[in-house]
Amino acid sequence: MRMIMLGPPGAGKGTQAKRIANEFKIPHISTGEILRNAIKDKTPLGEKAQEYMQKGLLVPDEIVTGLVKERVKEPDCDNGFILDGFPRTINQAKSLEDMGIGIDSVININVCEEDLIERFTGRRVCKTCGATFHIKFDPPSKPNICDKCQGELIIRADDEMSTVKKRLKVYTEQTAPLIDFYKNKKLLIDIDGTKPIDEVFSSILKRLRGEAV
Ligand code: ADP
Ligand code: AMP
Repeated sequence: MRMIMLGPPGAGKGTQAKRIANEFKIPHISTGEILRNAIKDKTPLGEKAQEYMQKGLLVPDEIVTGLVKERVKEPDCDNGFILDGFPRTINQAKSLEDMGIGIDSVININVCEEDLIERFTGRRVCKTCGATFHIKFDPPSKPNICDKCQGELIIRADDEMSTVKKRLKVYTEQTAPLIDFYKNKKLLIDIDGTKPIDEVFSSILKRLRGEAV
């Protein structure tokens, strides 16, 4: 099972991808998370990526494509994987095809801009393990403490409002064209992402199993 999560930043791709990965026992591959870890570890990749990420821009295609190419060769990907945040450009999608990697489903999470802003402003991430919470919609048991590792919860550096606006613009210009790209290949599954987290998850499962929602 090889899947892609598509949707604007803040739509809930990571939240749902983790659950899907758990359900189908396949790895969750988030390019954003790989890049944030590289920044945290101060690697040359992290230094390069940070220049773009802090401005709300996409990291160049060749860098991200190279990362994914290596990651999907790992043995844990033999039975499939879920890509979260990749591809983000038509060019990246074509590179994925060039790698000879066939995709079974593309889950497109739809959320209006007003809701996205509310999700961004309440998003908190664990400084240690990267787990994601929301102060209103998915709160941790203890304020500002990660339920999984007891790490400190912080606001993501690129969730600052001016960066968010830029990321939404970049999404519209560079990533949204992928919706038609995958629709034409009959791979797109459109999901209403405005519902609560559990409801969104159950509609994704139903659609993946071919049931009506
Ligand atoms: P993405 O990976 O698409 O950027 P996230 O999964 O990080 O998005 O979700 C963005 C924020 O919205 C997080 O704080 C998350 O807890 C919250 N969230 C995710 N899905 C929902 C939902 N269905 N309803 C309300 N809040 C949600
Ligand atoms: P995300 O965690 O998916 O919201 O990604 C955070 C940031 O990482 C994005 O705003 C981009 O700067 C960068 N990034 C993640 N995935 C990609 C990608 N596929 N192509 C280019 N940049 C990416």
